[in-house]
Formats: sequence, structure tokens, C-alpha cells
Amino acid sequence: MDPAPLRELRLVDADLLLTVEGGDVWIEGSFEARGEGFCDRCSDPVTLRLGKAFRTILTPKSRGPEGAVSIELHEEDLDVGYYDGTGVETNDILWEQAALEIPLRVVCSESCRGLCPVCGKSRNREACSCVAGGPPGPFDILKNLKGEKE
Ligand SMILES: [Zn+2]
Ligand SMILES: [Zn+2]
Repeated sequence: MDPAPLRELRLVDADLLLTVEGGDVWIEGSFEARGEGFCDRCSDPVTLRLGKAFRTILTPKSRGPEGAVSIELHEEDLDVGYYDGTGVETNDILWEQAALEIPLRVVCSESCRGLCPVCGKSRNREACSCVAGGPPGPFDILKNLKGEKE
């Protein structure tokens, strides 16, 4: 599994309870995972903790649409999936749930100020005196003068 944008994702703890009822597999579980990545803004290493409790139901693929209809009679907030007649891979279930929790962007903190585009220093660690966009060069000044005349 590709944990992007994380570099690595490990399951730390997991709990699964499977109940088979009329060919449907009811799954109740929870997991805790630890992800490693780099901050999207400042590139600092970031450790993330992911985890949640979930409930899902798997119905045999061979049953077709009618199988799904009977599931709709159950609770609405239940995830519904399908499984091949051969069985259910519990590891896959956990990874699938973990994958859903991976954020689209990883940041070390919501208030991360990122890297200075001029000097490249982390603005979280030191306040540099760079002006965004850099000091105006002679050509910029010419441009401005020209703009004023027109
Ligand atoms: Zn950051
Ligand atoms: Zn700077």
C-alpha cells in the first residue's frame, strides 16, 4: 500500500471482531497507526497518529445486487463492501480503513509558517528579515517608474 503523502505508515494496534451472519461478514474494529512524513510547508519530519473505530459489512460478491438490497435495511451509516467467496483478509480491512484516514496534506502544525522563499530558513525557528519576493531590484524600480508615467 502507498501511504502517500506519508513516507511510512505502521499499524500499532488493531482490534477486529468478525461475525458471520447469513453469509454476510459484520466487522467491528478499531486501529491505531503511526505515520511518518514530512511537513508540506517546512519539510520537518512529522509523526502522525491515526486511528478510529469502524463498522463495516462485507457481503459475498456472488450475491449480486439483491445482496446489497438486504443490507440497506440495516443501519445507513454502515460501510458496505464485497468479498470473494474465498474469504476475508483481515489485514486488508485494516489497511483500507487506515488509508481512509491519511490526510491529503501533512503539516507539522496548522500554524506552521513554512520556509522563507528567499533564504530557505524555517520561519518557525527563526525570524529572518527577508521581505517576501525579495528586495526590489533596479529593474523593478524602472518598471514602477514607467508604470507611473503611463
Ligand atoms: Zn512545518
Ligand atoms: Zn528569509
